[in-house]
Amino acid sequence: MKTSRGSSDRRMAVRVQCTSNIEVSCFSKDSSVPSQVLKADLVDISLGGLRMQTNGFLREGQRVFARLNDNFVGEEPLRGVVAWSETPDSTPRPLRYGIKFLETSEDQTQKLKQFLEETLQSRRTRKIKVDRRKLDFFNRWMANLDEEGTDFQFHVAHGPPLDKVVYDGKEVIQLCSNNSLGMSVHPKVIAAAKAALEIYGTGCGGSRLISGNLQLLKDLELVISGFLGVEDTVLFMTGYMGNVGGIEAMTNISFLNRKVNVGNVVGIFSDHENHKSIIHGCRLAEIKNHAVMRTYRHLDMDQLEDQLRTTHTNRKIIITEGVFSMRGDLAPLKDISALANKYNALIYLDDSHGIGHMGRTGRGSVEHWGVKNVDVILGTFSKAFGAAGGFICAQSNLCDYLRLQANTYIFSSALPPATVAGVKEAFSVFDSDLNLHKQFWKNVDYFKKKVLDLGFDILGSQSHIIPILIGSEHKAKRIAADLFKSGVFLPAVRYPATAPGKAILRCMLTVKHTTQQIDFVVDELGKLGRQEGIIPGA
Ligand code: PMP
Repeated sequence: MKTSRGSSDRRMAVRVQCTSNIEVSCFSKDSSVPSQVLKADLVDISLGGLRMQTNGFLREGQRVFARLNDNFVGEEPLRGVVAWSETPDSTPRPLRYGIKFLETSEDQTQKLKQFLEETLQSRRTRKIKVDRRKLDFFNRWMANLDEEGTDFQFHVAHGPPLDKVVYDGKEVIQLCSNNSLGMSVHPKVIAAAKAALEIYGTGCGGSRLISGNLQLLKDLELVISGFLGVEDTVLFMTGYMGNVGGIEAMTNISFLNRKVNVGNVVGIFSDHENHKSIIHGCRLAEIKNHAVMRTYRHLDMDQLEDQLRTTHTNRKIIITEGVFSMRGDLAPLKDISALANKYNALIYLDDSHGIGHMGRTGRGSVEHWGVKNVDVILGTFSKAFGAAGGFICAQSNLCDYLRLQANTYIFSSALPPATVAGVKEAFSVFDSDLNLHKQFWKNVDYFKKKVLDLGFDILGSQSHIIPILIGSEHKAKRIAADLFKSGVFLPAVRYPATAPGKAILRCMLTVKHTTQQIDFVVDELGKLGRQEGIIPGA
């Protein structure tokens, strides 16, 4: 770490939570017009100055106006000068800066003093004391990340997740949002969410089993059942919670037999590349419900059949994603369906990425493959439907069973009404305007062809999820940083989200991207890919 320290009064400095954002206007010499405006996170503040963290670049000696978004010094910005900077070894440029206040008004000084005294006083009276030695493990773990190239910097976005977003004060083209159809900002969706907000307020006030069972939620369940042509649907707070609770519940045998009876134990057959939430559910099933867990190699139907044949449990569940979330390849649902019939197994399909994307009318992987015997479908609102929340569709008795057995359903609050109303409208928008779906695929196909033409390996993607294989974590990080500099936001996806040494850039197009934006991104990717030796030079 390189540090250059000027003086700033650090007595009575108060560390603040990272939620305290600052807008910093920077001035060059003798100019009264800001040369740039940056977003920063306040680290701490004292009467003499403040420390802040930003991805923007500041020169020492530069004059700044810092406007704190938390109002504890009033609305007036604080006038200051950049006194020092800190450059961690892992970054090429400073991340932290010290700002020394040049002068503060009477009112600002009073307010700041009051804030500091109150905060210090409340900390002195705090009852919980942390023994820092106990945190040693976490400190060492974090330090190690840097060495492996798996450290992570959270970028802060300002504005809705669309084709263009402002990150850290800079507008960039975004190529990694799941808000593929722009549903989160569709005027009809926003109007429906607003209307629900006016009527119901921000929350349901409880879980579905107690006070949160609003008609609105039941209506959305009906809409989804109609959309996918299934008997019934159960909403969960997220898709992750749907998988954890659903898999745990479906393998629960305790109410049948208090002792573990092998006859009732369930066999789970799970693709090796299934999502973390599936793995999480399977671990619970294994540990708590003594389920027999078999993991088959990614898409390997021979191994799946072998496992189905040789595992002697009287109930079997095959669990797969429809569209794999990292590679964008597809589960061969026709083969899985044939095996499920042959070995009397249920199919549990996580179609988080399929629903709203795959199939002629966007019904998902089931429509894409034209299969009939998928027993359970898990979906999410966090992709094509632009919000958050999850659901499981199945035959109605199984849904009712989940309502009484899935812990993440029973012991968690119901989805917020505004989200539910917005998502319900999103389903209707989706069905009334299939052009959204078509335009989205046009963008996907256009981008995919261009990156393939450049020679990138997209890991056999068969869908809208387009992973560009980079390999080395360090290279991936470098490319992502250079892309950001040239105006593209596409963070590297690295271990543990991928296998070590298999870092990718996971590209997600949206319906909002223009051809010019896509061309620009492809050009930048081409330049950096050649520079890093990922694709052949010109
Ligand atoms: N399953 C898969 C395949 C996913 O990719 C995700 C989210 N990335 C989830 C489940 C969890 O969905 P949610 O965001 O609704 O928690």
